[in-house]
Amino acid sequence: VTFKDLGVCDELCLSVERLNYRHPTQIQKESIPYALKGNDIIGLAVTGSGKTASFALPILQKLLDNPQSFFAIVLTPTRELAIQISEQFEAIGAFIHLKTAVLVGGLDLMQQALSLSKKPHVIIGTPGRVADHLQNTKGFNLNQVKFLVLDEADRLLNMDFEKEINLIVGALPAERSTFLFSATMTNKVQKLQRACLKRDAVRVQ
Ligand code: AMP
Repeated sequence: VTFKDLGVCDELCLSVERLNYRHPTQIQKESIPYALKGNDIIGLAVTGSGKTASFALPILQKLLDNPQSFFAIVLTPTRELAIQISEQFEAIGAFIHLKTAVLVGGLDLMQQALSLSKKPHVIIGTPGRVADHLQNTKGFNLNQVKFLVLDEADRLLNMDFEKEINLIVGALPAERSTFLFSATMTNKVQKLQRACLKRDAVRVQ
């Protein structure tokens, strides 16, 4: 199976070829076709499985059809994960000069507000800092977001980010696609799934 077989467009196939992704990983094979069809996805996957590209590729492909700022938002538990995810997005999206903004705690708020003013396509952040910007950064809103990714959902919830996640999800349009990735399927994750994903979400692992 190739990325092209999964429905990935020629530009993005070229991009992953340049990054030396020779074959799609299991989670990519299972989720990309559904994500491209517009389904919400619940993915049971750990770091190292290729899960980042399994959501980055469909998001970038839809962005190519409909270029706009604040197209997608990815919530992840740690600063390190946020930076890694943004690097992968920018590597895969280099050919369109993809702009991302990383909103994480411990780094300068003004710097991040400045990066938001440059109208990034994709925002990647930890829930606390994203919520902080939503409440305090003038002109920043999530009214136009088409994709929400909840990455490492079990860890997000273990870190007590529930309140911030609810605030952020409440600021998103109902009409969007949502991808939830988690290493484990706990009761709290299922509750988050019911709150954020459509009923016909596809489960992959
Ligand atoms: P992730 O599980 O998303 O953290 O990805 C783990 C690593 O695998 C990252 O460094 C990716 O660049 C790389 N990767 C993702 N998909 C593929 C693939 N299909 N083939 C080879 N490497 C990949």
